[in-house]
Amino acid sequence: MTDSPIFRRHRQTKIVATVGPASSAPDQLRRLLLTGVDVFRLNFSHGTQENHGEVLARIRALEAEFDRPIGVIADLQGPKLRIGSFAEGAVALRSGRVIRFDLDPAPGNEDRVCLPHPEVIEAMTVGSTLLLDDGKVRIRVIEKGPDFLLGEIVAGTRLSNNKGFNVPDVMLPLSPLTPKDRRDMEFALDQGVEWIALSFVQRPEDVVEARGLIGDRAAIMLKIEKPAAIQHLDELIELADALMVARGDLGVEMPAEDVPSLQKNMIQKARDAGRPVIVATQMLESMISSPSPTRAEVSDVATAVYDGTDAVMLSAETAAGAYPVEAVAIMDRIVARVESDLLYRSIMDSQHPGLGRTTADAITHSANQAARAVSAKAIVTYTESGSTTLRAARERPPMPILAISIHDTTARRLALSYGVHTVHVAQGINSFGEMVQEAMRIAQEYGIAGIGDRLAITAGVPFGRTGSTNTLRIVYLEPEQE
Ligand code: PGA
Ligand code: MN
Repeated sequence: MTDSPIFRRHRQTKIVATVGPASSAPDQLRRLLLTGVDVFRLNFSHGTQENHGEVLARIRALEAEFDRPIGVIADLQGPKLRIGSFAEGAVALRSGRVIRFDLDPAPGNEDRVCLPHPEVIEAMTVGSTLLLDDGKVRIRVIEKGPDFLLGEIVAGTRLSNNKGFNVPDVMLPLSPLTPKDRRDMEFALDQGVEWIALSFVQRPEDVVEARGLIGDRAAIMLKIEKPAAIQHLDELIELADALMVARGDLGVEMPAEDVPSLQKNMIQKARDAGRPVIVATQMLESMISSPSPTRAEVSDVATAVYDGTDAVMLSAETAAGAYPVEAVAIMDRIVARVESDLLYRSIMDSQHPGLGRTTADAITHSANQAARAVSAKAIVTYTESGSTTLRAARERPPMPILAISIHDTTARRLALSYGVHTVHVAQGINSFGEMVQEAMRIAQEYGIAGIGDRLAITAGVPFGRTGSTNTLRIVYLEPEQE
């Protein structure tokens, strides 16, 4: 029996938190988990493999301690362009001053910094723009040499180590998996993460290449942050296991005013296709240094939830901010509040993607309807690969989807999906009758249902064939008869 009722979350939309120096200590990870994190993101743009390996081991220890599957995303840097580091960790920028970008790896200062991408220096021309740190710093190239650029600071206040940059005016030949990504990916797969996130994906071929390398060792999340990816969105969604609306780079590569519509469209398409989707970046940005968010940030998180996302994500807020736990707590409250709004419920229903043509979809759809009609406390799925549960999440039901699996990888992956409360069971289930018993036991153990409540249970009968969901049963938890 678990005595951790905290793990009956009272919301359907999930929270992803990025781990970094502000959150990697064991106690801090525990606090974040208890406050509301469902999935942790290891950002391979920062830190060493050794750091990430340690963090993963800590997360797995927490998982065992609290008997709750936790998802972990290894987010590969991709061909993200980054500047080098500064001797002081950061520099102050003053408009009108000139800064030099060169290939010298020595730590930089106010006058120069390393830009370790010869192909970028090559491609830039006088007058083109360099946008650093998600566009917060704008630099105009005023002189170009064979191995350096001189840039005038047009806007910006501060720049810290290894910040990313974008060059929207020039075309660069970018391969989606750099040598560093390949090394990081092999490491992450060896360590057993269940999600690999690919940055700066542009074409379907990028995903096919990654799938060839990854095989079935992990699920693939595509970060949508390039104009080319938007053009190929439908094909990319088909090839992906999940999407991330990576608004940081997307809003630099594309006009920022395009991002809200793109966000809504991506969420709707991902839901239609039954792929989980994360809305990411700058959600509670001011909480990096402030204990409370701005009204606009609260509204932004709320909007992503009203849009029907599976998950909202924290980046620097939890990785490097001064208030990581507070950020998760506030996100948790915003999500729960939106989900209690009747308007939210009507949006989820009116944006229903339409019935799939399979028996499994018909049953899953009926389960949502029936569960609501009888006020069932949960929809229960028993899943090997997670596919049936993903179809249930696509319905965006108002009650939890209890997903029971003997595969810990499946259980962990589903931690990202809308409404899914995953439970990993050690022993396989062999019959529908056994499943009904297990469902009733687990629902009570995790505080999802009690005596006098109902559950809507879906399954494939006869048992043991994947993807064959064809049965729906409503069960009533009878008072014990002794
Ligand atoms: P990043 O991805 O933080 O790795 O850049 C997210 C984004 O671009 O929004
Ligand atoms: Mn990005």
